[in-house]
Amino acid sequence: MGIQKIRNIGIMAHIDAGKTTTTERILFYTGKSHRIGEVDDGSATMDWMEQEQNRGITIVSAATTCFWKDCQINIIDTPGHVDFTAEVERSLRVLDGAVAVFCAVGGVEPQSETVWRQADKYKVPRLAFINKMDRIGANFFEVVQEIEDKLKASPLPIQIPIGSESDYKGNIDLIKLKEIHWNPDDQGSTFELKEIRDDLKDLANKWRENLIDKLSAFSDEITNLYLEGLDIPEDLIMSVLRQETINQSILPVFVGSSLKNKGVQPVLDGIISYLPAPEDIKEIEALHVKKDETILLQRTVKENPSGLIFKIQQDKEAGSLCYVRVYSGEFKSGSPVMNANKRKRERINRLLRMHSNHHEQINSVSAGDIAVIVGMKMAQTGDTICSEGFPVILENLEFPEPVISVA
Ligand code: GDP
Repeated sequence: MGIQKIRNIGIMAHIDAGKTTTTERILFYTGKSHRIGEVDDGSATMDWMEQEQNRGITIVSAATTCFWKDCQINIIDTPGHVDFTAEVERSLRVLDGAVAVFCAVGGVEPQSETVWRQADKYKVPRLAFINKMDRIGANFFEVVQEIEDKLKASPLPIQIPIGSESDYKGNIDLIKLKEIHWNPDDQGSTFELKEIRDDLKDLANKWRENLIDKLSAFSDEITNLYLEGLDIPEDLIMSVLRQETINQSILPVFVGSSLKNKGVQPVLDGIISYLPAPEDIKEIEALHVKKDETILLQRTVKENPSGLIFKIQQDKEAGSLCYVRVYSGEFKSGSPVMNANKRKRERINRLLRMHSNHHEQINSVSAGDIAVIVGMKMAQTGDTICSEGFPVILENLEFPEPVISVA
C-alpha cells in the first residue's frame, strides 16, 4: 500500500454524540467492501480480542486498520475524556486527521469545545459529521452555526439533509448537485445519486452558492469560472476543498444518522478525498541523540527509521503489544531495533496489523503506517524507536505546517 493511500485518522466526539455507533458503521461498511485475505491465527491467542469478537464488530485496538475503496484507513482510538492527559495528546499527535462527530440535537457542548481545542493545538485537519438527524429536535443548520460561533471554525456544508427527524430522507450532495439515497435493502451499505427534486432545487442552489462563494476566496480559478458563469469542475472543487481542509481554513460538514445507516459512506469518501495522507507533511523534527541537536527527518521510506510508541496493551500470551506510528524509514519483523529513550537495544519478534475482528502478521511497517510490535520488553508510551546507528527522539515535537499544493 503506497503511503499516499494511507489515512491515519481519529474519531472525536463528546460523550453520547455517537462516536461508537459511527465507528461501528465504518467498520461494518469497510468490512463489507473489503474481502479479508489470509487471516493469521497466530500461536498466541489474544483473549481480549476473542471476547470482543463474540460481541460482534467493535474497536478493541488502539489503532484499527480498515480499507475503503483503494485506501487503507487506520483509525486511532482517541480517548473521549476531556482532560489534557498525555494519552489524549499522544493519540492526537499520531493521527493526521480526524472526523468530529456532533449530535444534531445537542450541537456543540462544552465538552466538544475542549476536545476541539486539543485538536487545534495539534493542528489536526478535520471533517465534521452531524449525526442523529433522525432524532426529535435535530437541526442541522443550527449546529453548523454553533460550530462557527462556539468553535470559531469555518464550517462549510458540502451536503445538506433532506428533511429531519422521522422525515429525514436523504442528503443533497452539493458538489455533485445530486440527492443521495441509501439502499434500505442492503442495510444502507450502498447509496445512489439521483436528480434533485424540483421542490428542493432552490435550497440546493442556495447552499451550492455558499460552497462556491467560500471556496472562491481560496482559488482564482474557481472565482473566474464563477464570474464567467461557467461550470466549475468537480475535481477542482474537491482539490481546493482538500487543500483548505488540510490548511484548516475550512471544515467540510457532512450529515447523517449512524444509527439508521445513513450518511456514513460519504464520510468515508470524505476521509479519502479531504483528509491528508502521511506524506502531505514532508518532514518531522527529531532530536539526534549523539549530536544533541534537532534535525529534520524526511517522512519517506528511504530515510533512517523512526517511530513513536503511542500505546501499550498487555496480552496474557504475547506480552506487551506496542502500537507504533512510523514516521520515517521501515521496521522489519525479526530484526533488532533501538529504543532511543531507554538507550537499549530490543528485538521486533513479530509485527501485527490490527483489524476490527482479527489481526494479521506483517513482515515490515513503513513510513506513514501504524502497526503493533510484539517482543519489546522495556518500551513505554512516548518512547521513540529507531536504528542503532541513527538514534533519534521524536518526543516534544512541534507540528510543522503542512506543505501541499493544488494539482
Ligand atoms: P458515544 O458515547 O459518542 O460513543 O455514543 P454512542 O455511539 O454510544 O451513542 C450514544 C447513544 O446515541 C446510543 O444510545 C446510540 O444508539 C444513540 N445514537 C447514535 N447514533 C444515533 C443516531 O444517528 N440516531 C439516533 N436516534 N440515536 C443514535
